Amino acid sequence: MVVLRAVLFETEVVGEAAASSGGLGEWLGGGGRVSVKLRVERVSRLGFLVQRPPEPLAAVVWEPRLRVLSASGQRYCRYHEGFGERVEYCAEHATAKGGYCREHARSWKALYELCSQGVDAACEEAARAAPPEEFAVYALDFGGGLKVGLTQLWRLPHRVAEQPHVSAALVAKGPLAEMRSLERALGKRRAATEGMGVRVSERMRLSANFLERAGAREVAARLASLLAELGLEGEYEAITLLPRTLEPRRFASAEPAPLRSLEGRELELLDYWAGVLAFEDARSGEPLFARKQDLLHVALAAQLG
Ligand SMILES: [Zn+2]
Repeated sequence: MVVLRAVLFETEVVGEAAASSGGLGEWLGGGGRVSVKLRVERVSRLGFLVQRPPEPLAAVVWEPRLRVLSASGQRYCRYHEGFGERVEYCAEHATAKGGYCREHARSWKALYELCSQGVDAACEEAARAAPPEEFAVYALDFGGGLKVGLTQLWRLPHRVAEQPHVSAALVAKGPLAEMRSLERALGKRRAATEGMGVRVSERMRLSANFLERAGAREVAARLASLLAELGLEGEYEAITLLPRTLEPRRFASAEPAPLRSLEGRELELLDYWAGVLAFEDARSGEPLFARKQDLLHVALAAQLG
């Protein structure tokens, strides 16, 4: 039995661009100048972090070939410690809200997630218990406006990769409590609230459309003007993560395969974008798309090589 715990990827830089907001607002007193340094990266290597409970330490399997014999639907607790390729996961079933076991339902990670979902009562406790690491506030352009979010700093590229996006800027980094109040303040501004409630499928369509007709320079310019609209000024680093070979529109137009439909198939992991994994059925050559969150943390009777 295996549990896929995380999607791992390496990237190569395929483009860079810099742009500044040059709107009239600048001369009319409507905000400062924003410049964006954008790095466009493409997925170059893909893998899974795989746990075989009760063994806590997960192992990396690059370029996996996955044969799913059966998927029980039993979920495992998401709690883990460590990062990168050295991560230990809890080996208990998920019995509490948020995908945790009873013991970890009040862990700093569970509280931090509640906090980043807007449950302010959890923020104080999470901030007290959080390890002394840096957190990040980011602003993500999904092709129809901005979405402001909070994440652990080291997780930022992964957080961006799991969402439909044209680009995303690192707005600030610092301790959890400070970053949460910044996120909350920015999230209330008009330029950020417009994007709320836009469905994932719609964000995928919008960002795929924009990426297909724009170059790095236009992506950077668009982000600079959105950040200026948000009321920011100064210089920001930003990234765009592109799939390895498939076009973003393939992900946007695909019907995600439910877990059960993968049973009995031998799958090669081909690509990853916007939180969606693209597989190829090794026998039929048929492409299959599955949401990352449907596959991770679930017990699979599977062969993995
Ligand atoms: Zn646990």
